[in-house]
Amino acid sequence: MHSINKGLFGTLLIIFVNLNLTVLAQSSKFNKWFNHQTLRINLIHSGSSKTEHYSVHSYQRIALWSGSTNYLLDTSGYGDIHFEVLDSASQTPIYLRGFDNMFYEWQQTEQAQTEQRSFEEVIRFPFPKKSVQIMIYRRISLKKKVLLHSFFLNPRSVEIELASQSTYANVAFGQLSSESKAVDVVVLPDGYTQSEMPKFIKDSERMISFLLSTPPFDSLREYFNFRMVLAPSVESGTDIPGKGIWKNTLLDSHFNSLGSDRYLTTQSIFKMHDMAQAVPYDQVYVLVNSPTYGGGGIYNYYNLSSVDDSLSPWVFIHEFGHGFAGLADEYEDDEISYSTLYSSAEEPWRPNITNLADSTAKWQNMADSTLGVPSEEIDENRQKIGFYEGGGYVSKGIYRPYISCEMRSLQSGFCPVCQKAIRQMIVWSTQ
Ligand SMILES: [Zn+2]
Repeated sequence: MHSINKGLFGTLLIIFVNLNLTVLAQSSKFNKWFNHQTLRINLIHSGSSKTEHYSVHSYQRIALWSGSTNYLLDTSGYGDIHFEVLDSASQTPIYLRGFDNMFYEWQQTEQAQTEQRSFEEVIRFPFPKKSVQIMIYRRISLKKKVLLHSFFLNPRSVEIELASQSTYANVAFGQLSSESKAVDVVVLPDGYTQSEMPKFIKDSERMISFLLSTPPFDSLREYFNFRMVLAPSVESGTDIPGKGIWKNTLLDSHFNSLGSDRYLTTQSIFKMHDMAQAVPYDQVYVLVNSPTYGGGGIYNYYNLSSVDDSLSPWVFIHEFGHGFAGLADEYEDDEISYSTLYSSAEEPWRPNITNLADSTAKWQNMADSTLGVPSEEIDENRQKIGFYEGGGYVSKGIYRPYISCEMRSLQSGFCPVCQKAIRQMIVWSTQ
């Protein structure tokens, strides 16, 4: 008994020492390349259905870095855009992240065939100590990406503006964990007046509580920090251009995005980050003070939803599935004009849909091997993981893992494959 204990202690000690060395090696990497501050680059992404172009709008230095100091090079492969930061002198990759954007959704519309438009995008990474090269790639598929733009930046450049201190107050939701070890979610109000700030806090708490009672988030509370920024708009509500309703709000949110009545978005990405900077943040959630059903979530870009429809809490968690975990919509929609988003020749990077182009399908090891492909949509398969045809806006050629899921129809809860993807994202984000 005694020797077993001793042996066990020895093993534990070795693991402990190894872990400690890894953490030390990682944090010394962080300290070698970065300060504990943030470099924010405001970008303009413009073009038509067939062209695209990036240009730098401005640079900002922010007093705090709230992201991980260990996980510098993202290994997920998620995001239609990847940005990579290299140390200029040695060409060593020192930071990598991915995100999606509104421009690629717009590129699929009919308007993009004949017109040009531009969209704001923001990239943020820890403030570099030496000159860096920033590379921006477009991801074509799980295995292919192309370089769109690259530029150099000297951290001592006088063009980097020091961000001014926010004047907005903020309120935390419950107990906070250490910023570098948690997913910091900032909740921003749009269309709440000064006298409606108590309503904003109540709405935020209602949405966050609902998220934290939904699997898998219900067992992952300690990995999240939520902070609400109290930023009042002049007018209450939001724009509904299709009905001729226009409101003066801080983040210019509006319905009728890309021709869809229920698609609620904002194009004011720079203003959104200005407001978010009142607190440490990794994810942005905008709550729009409206009783009309709608929302939008774009991976590592933003999450946004209205608050006073009876389904709003479900929309809230659905959009967070997109914005935080990069989940695809699992529904079919012939009305959606960007139905060519997933080409059948290349496997999409999203974890919860597949076109079977890659033989090592994402959830193969979780699937019930007795179900065929496509799996039959019958009642007895309701709790079985398979390959059900239809998802990613199309009815043929794309497969989803479960008959129903929160990413397909609201009020279903997240399917086991989406739950696993969310857990994985938390592991990546909080190490
Ligand atoms: Zn799912």
